Amino acid sequence: MSGRIKLLGRISIEAELKAKTGLAIGGGDGGPSLGGLSVGGLSIGGLETAVVRDPLTGEPYVPGSSLKGKLRALTERALGAQLVAVVEGKSRRESRFLHRCAGEKEYLSGGGLDGYGGCAICHLFGAIPDRYPVYPTRLVTRDAYFTSASRQALAKRRTELPFTEVKSESILDRLTAASSPRHCERVPAGGAFDARWELNLYAVDGNDLHDEKLLGLLLAGLGLLEEDYLGGQGSRGYGRVEFSGLKVKVSHDGGLSAEAKDLVAKLSAGGTVAAALAISGNPLAKAGS
Ligand SMILES: [Zn+2]
Repeated sequence: MSGRIKLLGRISIEAELKAKTGLAIGGGDGGPSLGGLSVGGLSIGGLETAVVRDPLTGEPYVPGSSLKGKLRALTERALGAQLVAVVEGKSRRESRFLHRCAGEKEYLSGGGLDGYGGCAICHLFGAIPDRYPVYPTRLVTRDAYFTSASRQALAKRRTELPFTEVKSESILDRLTAASSPRHCERVPAGGAFDARWELNLYAVDGNDLHDEKLLGLLLAGLGLLEEDYLGGQGSRGYGRVEFSGLKVKVSHDGGLSAEAKDLVAKLSAGGTVAAALAISGNPLAKAGS
């Protein structure tokens, strides 16, 4: 690998991310505070999970890291990529499986995407630091904040907590048959966020790597996410999401190829993920069917 890397351009992808069912996102360790109470993943008066909130405005948002992590996991599994266990907690139960290329050869010769000269997953979402040098990550996933319409609509609704509802469920102990209540905080169905990604395209030693080919993989990931869920409690029906008003445009042109500009021009009409995939082609559908 050489060190002469030039940014050829940047493609921005925008869409409205709408919760079709209640969204419980960010209820992990160490969430931000709400009115002096730390609510991220802690139990306060029986409230089990909490959505992550912007510490300045107190409004729920979808962290770019959560969205990117989910898209990465879904595309890794769809491509059947080699996974390694990354233990994040104390036990194996808390470990996550992530793709990591076995070495520099795999990283540079890659696979997973026809006509792309490198590991599509590692180039798009980033390579886990390893023993070989890596190129900059192509995709930047922004934090997604409420659309102004959602912010106004939810501010008017009298929900249990600001902008969120608390869903009560009962948990049945299978041994004792005792039922205990459980309360989950979530962004109500219909809540919508402005999602945005930037795809950076690079040349190495004067060779255009044609990173625009990664755009199809990102769109395919959005399609997989619509069939899956975002955030917690997905097996209970939470976190179904839908993308609409998809807009793709060149936000910086420092020498983009005709192919890249042509693809963006075709995709610029906006619309749904399915419509965009019909234009870009779905690299995962090809691999799977
Ligand atoms: Zn890889």
